[in-house]
Amino acid sequence: MRKLHVTVAAGFAAALFAAPAARADLQAVAKAMGTPQSLEISGSGLTYGIGQAYKAGMPWPRMNLVRYGRTDDYANGALGYDTTVVRADQLGGTAVPQRGEFRRAGGVAGDKAWIINYPVPDTVQAAAVPLQHDLWISPHGIVQAAMADKKMMDGPNFWVERAGKFKAKATVDGQNMVSRVESWMDNAVLGDMAVVTTYSEYKDFGGAKFPTRITQSAGGWPVLELTIADVKVNAGRVAAPAQIAAAPNDVKLDKAADGVWFVSGGSHNSVVIEMSNFVVLFEAPLGDGRANAVIKAVKDALPNKPIRFVVASHHHFDHSGGLRAAAAEGATIVLPEMSKAYFERAYAMPRTISPDSLAKSGKTAKFETYGDKHVISDGARTLELYLLKNSVHADGYVLGYLPKEKMIIQADSFSPRAPITQTPAFVNPATKTLWDNVEMHGLAVDTVLPLHGRMVKVDELKLEAGVR
Ligand SMILES: [Zn+2]
Repeated sequence: MRKLHVTVAAGFAAALFAAPAARADLQAVAKAMGTPQSLEISGSGLTYGIGQAYKAGMPWPRMNLVRYGRTDDYANGALGYDTTVVRADQLGGTAVPQRGEFRRAGGVAGDKAWIINYPVPDTVQAAAVPLQHDLWISPHGIVQAAMADKKMMDGPNFWVERAGKFKAKATVDGQNMVSRVESWMDNAVLGDMAVVTTYSEYKDFGGAKFPTRITQSAGGWPVLELTIADVKVNAGRVAAPAQIAAAPNDVKLDKAADGVWFVSGGSHNSVVIEMSNFVVLFEAPLGDGRANAVIKAVKDALPNKPIRFVVASHHHFDHSGGLRAAAAEGATIVLPEMSKAYFERAYAMPRTISPDSLAKSGKTAKFETYGDKHVISDGARTLELYLLKNSVHADGYVLGYLPKEKMIIQADSFSPRAPITQTPAFVNPATKTLWDNVEMHGLAVDTVLPLHGRMVKVDELKLEAGVR
């Protein structure tokens, strides 16, 4: 009896001097996995273009991840990456060309993020949240974040949350390794987008355990399948480059024709078409920020006419991310019938992490859809919309045509930047298909209003399409 009493008292004393039991569990996880200050990770596998499905609702297009290099610097809240990919799926979007390798690097340090575009290379400001998410949902990142936040475990799970950015739930396995992280991050189309990451086949890399197999899905489809070849522990730190060019985000309205404005100044353009008693906004790209800046410029230029319609060139997230902002203004979203169900499902998702204009307005988006062709007119000016056929870039992909002005509006098939003097050695099949569609419909064209790059005469398009 007495002996038992002593044992209980000793146990009680030990518990008093140790951390609470739940915290001790998290410490056991950290002890089992190791607590590196930084990790340099290399591998290869598959990556996918999120938001760039060929058709709305299809899986994201697949790319071979030829080289994957990444440094996680937990001590400095920083991450740097350098990746080289080659298309595996020919169909679908992304900046990866139809042929050849595509290299992209970048990183985040605190709230500063950057992208390094090759081959130039130039370093441009980027969005920090997706990379902060990636750092702090990594196996060591999430353990260190939870320890710093003095989190407790609930069975095999623990949570980490960054208000306005993301929240994540980690699960540990029987060996105290983080085996799964479910996280939610704001996305302009999908709202609180669900990300599921699995970590398996852990190995010891010089004092820290790291998974050699990583899979990740986002928005319901795979985004990453990685095989890790090597991990170096405390190999280096990540610091922001000294020179990061600001991402372009001005709103510039240039008159393209009477009643037609070309809206540039950012990475994605829009076109404003003035009708007798309303305005059509062709393209609301990126997200709430860009779209609201464009909407404000339109209202300043045409204060007495409501934006009645917002036309989506296609469903890719970088081009459709601002549609909700226009819907919050009362505009009806005009898109191909085949894409509507996807957007209706997406817009019904919760938006609690970073509620956008439409969520705050309490309104519901209205859609107007069409099959092969749609016309918006006030009797004097007409905008025709044609569903592009046979493009490798997207299905549910729209060509806008202003017959009176002899202008076409299109995204991604032709993005004129520096002028060219001859047809490139490899013609982008999407550019050729765009021209085939112009001819198929017998459209008389003088000017191209592209949704990336410069407004140009049609001869530049023909040169790039290899038909001149
Ligand atoms: Zn696209």
